[in-house]
Amino acid sequence: MIDLHCHILPGIDDGAKTLEDSLAMAEKAISQGITHILCTPHHMNGKYMNPASDVIRRVTALQAELDQRNLPLTLLEGQEVRINGSLMEHIEQQDILFTDLDNTYLLIEFPTLDIPAYTEQLFFELMSKGYTPVIVHPERNAKFREDPNRLIPFLDMGVLTQLTAPSIVGIFGKDIQKTAMSMMEHNLLHMVASDAHGVNTRNFYMKEAYEKIQKEFGTETVIRMQQVTKDLVNGDRPKLPDYQEIRKKRFGVF
Ligand code: FE
Repeated sequence: MIDLHCHILPGIDDGAKTLEDSLAMAEKAISQGITHILCTPHHMNGKYMNPASDVIRRVTALQAELDQRNLPLTLLEGQEVRINGSLMEHIEQQDILFTDLDNTYLLIEFPTLDIPAYTEQLFFELMSKGYTPVIVHPERNAKFREDPNRLIPFLDMGVLTQLTAPSIVGIFGKDIQKTAMSMMEHNLLHMVASDAHGVNTRNFYMKEAYEKIQKEFGTETVIRMQQVTKDLVNGDRPKLPDYQEIRKKRFGVF
């Protein structure tokens, strides 16, 4: 199993603080059946800056620690990039890490409460240069929760989406779980990743999420979503199901 979104690198964002934390996360990941982790520290979120060269160096260092302890886990370098107006310049400066080595897919985080007005223009620009944004955890964003159909213009452009595992398991509460379920029912979410930050608070829940998806949507959906994660690492074009607009439903408290 691949985990495409994880804050396992020690001491560089709000994820693992120390090497011990990272090792505890690695052990937990292995027990969940995870074989590969894309290390995706926050980048440019107003608090943390983790440019590409730093992340690569730190991934190499943590991998060495895992290997030394015979922990069977392969780390890959990545970033969770906060959407911002100067993203194109940062890509040109080779400051940005993608999920694949061909620089095709990049994980984009939105502010919790907002979808910035320039998003469509920026995504259009990215797509026109061959970069595909992956919107991480839209089910946790206030605007997408209020109206999940706001994902549709982005999906029409070819943008991808990532469900965060604990959301569908119910760890972030019933509202977010319901939104995640509804988005899943309408094929608005393409793959699942942990966004794990530690072993005590924000844990992996990948096994539990796939179990839930299997129960609710069947084995085929699990296989398809797992294939998307492989495609994103390989830089391949994933096969995606048709999505539908959500009709006449009310979401949460909004
Ligand atoms: Fe994250």
